[in-house]
Amino acid sequence: MSESADTAIIGGGPGGVPAALFLLSKGQSVCLFETTGNLGGTCLFEGCIPSKIFIETAKKVRALKNISNFGIEGQFNYKVNWPGVLKRKETILNRRSQAALSHLKSFPKCRFIDAQAKFVEANKVAYSEGGKDHIVEAKNIIIATGSISFIPPVEGIKEAITSEALLSIDHIPQSMAIIGAGPIGIEAAAIFSQMGTKCTVIEMLPRILPNVDKEVAGHLEGILKKEQAIDLFTGAKVTKIVKTSAAKQVVFDYAGKTQKVEAEIVLVAVGRRPRIEGLGLDKVGIECDHSGLRVNEFLETTQKGVYACGDVIGGYMYAHTATSEGLACAKNILSGNKVKIDYFYPPAGLVFSEPEIASCGLTEDEAEIKAIPFITDKYPYQMDARAQIAASAEGFIKLVVEKTTGKILGVHMIGPDASNLISEAAVLVSSGATLKDLAGTVHPHPSLSEGMVVLARQMLAKFYA
Ligand SMILES: Cc1cc2nc3c(=O)[nH]c(=O)nc-3n(C[C@H](O)[C@H](O)[C@H](O)COP(=O)(O)OP(=O)(O)OC[C@H]3O[C@@H](n4cnc5c(N)ncnc54)[C@H](O)[C@@H]3O)c2cc1C
Repeated sequence: MSESADTAIIGGGPGGVPAALFLLSKGQSVCLFETTGNLGGTCLFEGCIPSKIFIETAKKVRALKNISNFGIEGQFNYKVNWPGVLKRKETILNRRSQAALSHLKSFPKCRFIDAQAKFVEANKVAYSEGGKDHIVEAKNIIIATGSISFIPPVEGIKEAITSEALLSIDHIPQSMAIIGAGPIGIEAAAIFSQMGTKCTVIEMLPRILPNVDKEVAGHLEGILKKEQAIDLFTGAKVTKIVKTSAAKQVVFDYAGKTQKVEAEIVLVAVGRRPRIEGLGLDKVGIECDHSGLRVNEFLETTQKGVYACGDVIGGYMYAHTATSEGLACAKNILSGNKVKIDYFYPPAGLVFSEPEIASCGLTEDEAEIKAIPFITDKYPYQMDARAQIAASAEGFIKLVVEKTTGKILGVHMIGPDASNLISEAAVLVSSGATLKDLAGTVHPHPSLSEGMVVLARQMLAKFYA
């Protein structure tokens, strides 16, 4: 059987769904394929949301541990009820997925297809339903199939689990060895160390969080080691994983010696790769390299009329990037390629550790590589009224500013609520605001956002007086 649609979208995650909603709102007919039958993608079921639900529980545990700082005394006989945490997670996930599906289905020109899609021609996608094969012909197609965990070729790697499995684990493990100190590995350590799991992180590169400002990453490294009792090995290469009678042993080269760590669980979190298996891309001339589908500045693949967005094209693998790319694909379909994405602006380096990390725009290293003369300075949360009140005065805000113009090029934060505070920075950096613009605005007192203004005034006085 053959059907038709203006646009077919493959993948119901943060890339595909906003693209579908935008096109539907403009009157297009849209066929959205999702192989799991549920909307939300990795973000909702195996990524952003479940990990942040666990982080919220970890934060509550931390708050209880530190409650005497707030003048509260007593015996608090709490314990984490892990099945209860999992139940809470399922409730939130299902509620969000169902709400998204009913919103999508409220558009009469939407056809949601609970099936795996594959290309048969550049403008035709096939799927199976009720034991029969069907074809959808579309003027345009958006590929938004996301990514899966990359599994490195290490001996015994089958003993390790990925973040997908960790986010459904049925108990709190006694110990965990984490291979990889990117955002996923660091968040896993932040969550489970707070729950009582002994966490060891092993990273091949010389430092944790290689995509984050190095001073920010270094600050977190100190906190993880000293305050959260996480063992961290950087510049360490895992050579094999061995199953022992009681646990798993991770063998790695570190500082010229062979080291071993025993752990109940081994998590492999060394990156993600595009999910393209079974899509039939080779048949229709859509090219892909190891980092993702090849797209031009308008997010059009090597096949005219076929666009791609989100993790499947590599780059910044964040839900908000997938969404802005999905919307750009939709707008380019309607406008005939007018919208380019500027990757200078999106909040990146986002890590929901304790304290949180968030950044936007250029790091010092990137400004140096681009040979842009810059000045930089920091605002420490130790002097911040609101951070002191909340007993979380760890960290700082750092601004990277173009010396000649005073333009804010980059904002890097480690501290309380950085994931929320970075949104102001995104507006400043994307609108080309200067130190003077920021210094001239009024921020509420006492609030964590004040630091931005104080820092701007401090830098004006220090560098431009
Ligand atoms: C542990 C973890 C934590 C994360 N935390 C954050 C965070 O805090 N903030 C953040 O911004 N990002 C976070 N991310 C990243 C974020 O989840 C991804 O960047 C985002 O989900 C990418 O969206 P997408 O639409 O490109 O792909 P996905 O969300 O992966 O969606 C793709 C969808 O396509 C479907 N699909 C695939 N192939 C087919 C096919 N052939 N036919 C039909 N359907 C198909 C899949 O089933 C899937 O539902 C996290 C990721 C992980 C793994």
